[in-house]
Amino acid sequence: MKLPKAVKRALKLLEEAGYEAVVVGGAVRDYLLGKTPNDYDISTNARPEEVKEVFKNFHTLDIGIKHGTVTVFIDRRQLEITTYRSERDYEDFRHPKEVVFETDLDADLGRRDFTVNAICYNRRIIDKVGGIADLQAKLIRAIGDPSVRFREDPLRILRALRFAAVLNFRIESGTRDAIFKEKELLRKVSSERINLEFSKLLLGETAPEIIEEYAAVLRVFLPELPEELALNLKALPKLDGLASRLASLLVGAEPGVAEGTLKRLKYPKNKISQVLFLLANKDREIKPELSEIGKFLKDFESADLLCLLGFQKAFLEAEGRSHNLDEVLKLAKQIDPGKCYRLKDLAVSGRDLLAMGYPEGAGIRILLDKLLDLVIEGRLKNEKEELLGYLEKNNPPAGKCMIVNDLRPNK
Ligand code: ATP
Ligand code: MG
Repeated sequence: MKLPKAVKRALKLLEEAGYEAVVVGGAVRDYLLGKTPNDYDISTNARPEEVKEVFKNFHTLDIGIKHGTVTVFIDRRQLEITTYRSERDYEDFRHPKEVVFETDLDADLGRRDFTVNAICYNRRIIDKVGGIADLQAKLIRAIGDPSVRFREDPLRILRALRFAAVLNFRIESGTRDAIFKEKELLRKVSSERINLEFSKLLLGETAPEIIEEYAAVLRVFLPELPEELALNLKALPKLDGLASRLASLLVGAEPGVAEGTLKRLKYPKNKISQVLFLLANKDREIKPELSEIGKFLKDFESADLLCLLGFQKAFLEAEGRSHNLDEVLKLAKQIDPGKCYRLKDLAVSGRDLLAMGYPEGAGIRILLDKLLDLVIEGRLKNEKEELLGYLEKNNPPAGKCMIVNDLRPNK
């Protein structure tokens, strides 16, 4: 296994100080699957204070120290170095009540969730739990008795689904049975922890298959999941990004429930508004004309528009309906981001109109809006002189009362 220099250096420093250390978890699993690991976790028999002593010449952070993790920065890389540990008494199902530091690797591996997540490496692969065989068979299998492990920490139920969806693995039958048997325990898990795993699951390659097979499990924390999911799951793989995928699951849910669902699951405000935007505009027709698209951009960003078009397309195709959205998409991609599509980009403001003698009030906004339409349609240049001149000619101020003419020429 080819390790980054920083990781090799960390292992070497720990060993030179007389401790044992291995790379474990996602990095080894991903390496064996031919993927580039995101992060490298190191486990060691050194106690946290001892780890800090070994790395006293490096910048370290203590945020995870209660759980035995010291974060060390080596060559600008951030490494988490965790003391071998086991956990007892998962009473509140949220946090392990007591972290017990251990001196041998086996005890540490025994507290890990799945066999494929407990393969270690230091000069050679160390596989004490049959992780390699399960990797080859593409199986997610709990370490030990799955029901016991899920009762210790029910989040593992959702993690099993997440890894299956992301890695395109199946869940071993004993683990699968325990998932269904213990699924209600997911109610006890905090929304923050659910959020992280559920979001990763949704973005997984085989998310549709996993969601279909385990819908009853997901409904424990997501009762809003529509009963009939065929269309949602057909559209889902065509969508990139969390907001689109969340929205695709909620199409067909009771109207108005999406916001509450996403808030409960602790999604951030901007994610929620993206999802609500997609749901609200799913059936809105956007014609393949630049001026139509431009008007849409009066209210939304062009990235939102592209996302919406992709969303509409995925559903229309899932329903087997024809559409001309590719044409709209092509036009939308041509849209010049420097061009004016919003009132705030218009070369004149309410103040200019007041100065011309128009009375204060809602009429000002209407006039500006009409000017903006003309600019978007390409009939007027977005230049102050041209816009004010046009107004003066076609809708001159009429004293105290605001008269709004139809500004559009040839009508
Ligand atoms: P990713 O690539 O998503 O980071 P990962 O396997 O590194 O995958 P993490 O959530 O970062 O997953 O966890 C790191 C390791 O810690 C896991 O591989 C697993 O061995 C162990 N682990 C994490 N969460 C749990 C848990 N809830 N129960 C038991 N072991 C866990
Ligand atoms: Mg990780």
